[in-house]
Amino acid sequence: MRPCGGFSRRGRWRGTKSLLPRLVARLHECKHPVGGVEALARHGADQVLTATHTQFRLYHPDGYAATIAGLAGSHAVVLLSATATGRDLAPRVAAKLGVGCATDVTAMGWESGKLVVTRPVYAGKALQKVRLEATPAIASLRPNTIQPAEKPRAGASVLVTVPAFETRVTVKAIKAPAQAALDVTEAPIVVSGGRGLKDPSNFQLLEGLAAAFGNAAVGASRAVVDAGWRDHGAQVGQTGKTVSPGLYIAVGISGAIQHLAGMRTAKVIVAINKDKDAPIFKVADYGIVGDLFEVVPVLTEQIKKLKSEG
Ligand code: FAD
Repeated sequence: MRPCGGFSRRGRWRGTKSLLPRLVARLHECKHPVGGVEALARHGADQVLTATHTQFRLYHPDGYAATIAGLAGSHAVVLLSATATGRDLAPRVAAKLGVGCATDVTAMGWESGKLVVTRPVYAGKALQKVRLEATPAIASLRPNTIQPAEKPRAGASVLVTVPAFETRVTVKAIKAPAQAALDVTEAPIVVSGGRGLKDPSNFQLLEGLAAAFGNAAVGASRAVVDAGWRDHGAQVGQTGKTVSPGLYIAVGISGAIQHLAGMRTAKVIVAINKDKDAPIFKVADYGIVGDLFEVVPVLTEQIKKLKSEG
C-alpha cells in the first residue's frame, strides 16, 4: 500500500508547503523485505512503522484498517493517498474510530488547532473547505497536489503488532496493467487522448510523445475507453482516475465536464483540438487549435530535440 502519515499532537504545522509527516505506517506481508524507510525519512518521517502479516500479501481492507485505527489514536491527523486503495481505506479507518473523513483533498491548513482541508466537489466545479473537528482527523490526499518537502531525519524503523481483525472482505487478485507503464495518477506528465484520435492504433502517436518526455503516462477519455481502445485504468475523469500532474496534454478531447473533473487540478494544461470552441480550451493554460495528426509529430520531435540538447 502507499504510505500514510500522521502528525503528532505536538508536531508543528507550518502550512501546506511545509507539511512534514512525523510518522509513516507501511503494511506488508512478512516475507517481503520492507523498503522505502530511507525515502520516507528523507521527507521528514521521525518513525516509519511497519506492520507485517501473512494476510497482507495483497491489500487487506479489514487488516489494514484495524492496524491503522490501532495506531491512529495518539495522533492528531492521519493522511492517506487518494488512490484506489486510499479511497477504500480512509473511510474504513474513520468508521472504526467514529470520526469524520475528508476525501480527495487538494490543500490543507491548520486553524485553531484543527485540520482544515480543501476538496473539489460537483465534479470539480466548486471547492469545499472542511474543518475536521474530531481527533484524529482523517483525510486522503489527491496524489501530486502537495510537493513533499526534503527534510532528512534519522528515520527510525519500528515494527508494530497487528491487532486481531476479522476478515469480511478478501482481495483475491489485483490485475496489473498489460505493460509495466507509468500510472496516470503518479506520472508527472500525462498525455491523454480522446475520440479525436479516430482509431486505437493512432494512440501510438501519444505513446511516442510520452516516450519523448520519458516520464509521462498515456491517459484517455471515457469515450475511447468505452469504445475498447484503451484500458479503464487509463481513463481520466469523474468515473475514471483523478490526476494532478505537473503537465497534462489533452489531445483530441472535447473537455466534457466529467473529463475536466479528473484533470482540472493539473498544474499546466495544454489542449490540442481542431475545434477552437472546444470546452477544453476554457481550462487550458496553452491551447493549440489544429489537427492533432500534424501537431503531435512536430511536438514529439521538438521534445526529443530539446532533450538531446540537455
Ligand atoms: P468527443 O467529445 O467526441 O471529442 C472529441 C474531440 O476531438 C472534439 O473536441 C473534436 O473537435 C476533436 N478532434 C477531432 N478530430 C481531431 C483532430 N484531427 N485533431 C484535433 N482534434 C480533433 N468522460 C471522461 O473522459 N471521463 C470520465 O470519467 C467520464 N465520466 C462520465 C460519467 C458520466 C455519468 C457521464 C454521463 C459521462 C462521462 N464521461 C466521461 C463522458 C463525457 O461526457 C464525454 O462524452 C467524453 O469525455 C467525450 O470524450 P472525447 O472528448 O474523447 O470525445
